[in-house]
Amino acid sequence: MRSYDVIVVGGGIVGGAIALQLAQSKLHVALLDRQNPGREASWAAAGMLSPAPDSPSAIPLVPFGRASLNLYPEFISEIEEISGQRAGLRRDGAIEVLFSADAEHQLSTLVALHRGLGLPTEPLPIDEARKLEPALGREARAAAWMKYEGFIDPRALIEAVLAAASASGVELHTGANVTQITGEGGRCGGVTTASEKFGAGQVVLAAGAFSAKIEGFAPPVSVRPIRGQMVALSSAAIPLRRVLRSERGYLVPRGGASPQRIVAGSTLEDAGFEKRVTPGGLERIFSAAQELVPALAGAEVLETWSGLRPDTPDHLPLLGPGELTGLTIATGHYRNGILLAPITAKLVREWITEQRVSMDWQIFDPLRFNEAKSARNNS
Ligand SMILES: Cc1cc2nc3c(=O)[nH]c(=O)nc-3n(C[C@H](O)[C@H](O)[C@H](O)COP(=O)(O)OP(=O)(O)OC[C@H]3O[C@@H](n4cnc5c(N)ncnc54)[C@H](O)[C@@H]3O)c2cc1C
Repeated sequence: MRSYDVIVVGGGIVGGAIALQLAQSKLHVALLDRQNPGREASWAAAGMLSPAPDSPSAIPLVPFGRASLNLYPEFISEIEEISGQRAGLRRDGAIEVLFSADAEHQLSTLVALHRGLGLPTEPLPIDEARKLEPALGREARAAAWMKYEGFIDPRALIEAVLAAASASGVELHTGANVTQITGEGGRCGGVTTASEKFGAGQVVLAAGAFSAKIEGFAPPVSVRPIRGQMVALSSAAIPLRRVLRSERGYLVPRGGASPQRIVAGSTLEDAGFEKRVTPGGLERIFSAAQELVPALAGAEVLETWSGLRPDTPDHLPLLGPGELTGLTIATGHYRNGILLAPITAKLVREWITEQRVSMDWQIFDPLRFNEAKSARNNS
């Protein structure tokens, strides 16, 4: 049986970033993925680095998102240096565009909410918004400027993270489908795959939307997949520099060349593990994209795909020690896993190497939906 200090289950952005940090702390780390790593939600994402809440349930996540965004420049320069690959962080900001009849009222509510959460969002007069992004549609009535936001190409990012992890000594096992996390006497012992056992006193569960399929938990980890469809367009119209978002969708530029690749999203669908791309989903994305930038009506459709976001009952991540000693859970990042990867990796490293963390994490307690939690609190 091969043995390690730590086994990380799942080679998406979350598992990849964690494995890298742990290897940098001189631990012998194995990263196990049932397929080629980085091909699930992390590959499908739009790549917005936005700590702004997209719904009331996301409000408790804002301090965590802000902390992660602050870590991003260093996270990227380290990854780029170690891997020798570009991850392409862009810090050009985002514009939230409002189309409704009461857009001005909506704008002041949004700006007040963001400022109350420590986010320096500014109202942006619509003619100023058009100066920044001349392709913006005529129907836009108001806009908010999130100058502090960034965006990244998640496919380049995950490639660079995995290359950096590998260069730092992480042993990458592809085709390693983990079926069970093993333990004895309340302590973690390692994992079992379809063909092999791996030993480790520390295991990190980072299998994204698939985490609940792995045995060794009672009840299973509270994660379920929420499908998001996406489209890549090639447009020769005026290039976008920033993310454009509305209530109905978003556009994220990839590169500045003409014709420009623009990623448009997305849907939020409860479709189980089905990753089909549907006419209905695409129609909603096209309609939202053209409302933001009407010139996209003539764009070429380059690619369509979908991914499965790891969602939880309260839409907040599951982060922290699991039921077994030595087990750390890091999943359920739902719509924000690209943004939250650096802070997640930092916290998991702290748990494993220092047995304490530098941030308040209790709202993310992975056992919060289990009865086992009360048993732990009473012990
Ligand atoms: C359409 C879409 C748009 C998004 N846009 C954004 C965005 O703009 N910004 C943002 O921050 N977030 C965004 N997200 C969310 C983000 O993509 C996810 O939160 C994040 O990628 C989750 O990362 P992960 O590593 O936990 O999971 P994943 O990337 O899904 O990785 C999980 C890995 O675990 C592996 N695995 C699964 N089961 C097993 C097993 N039994 N054994 C071994 N390996 C296993 C899988 O093969 C996979 O490689 C978006 C998501 C989608 C779908």
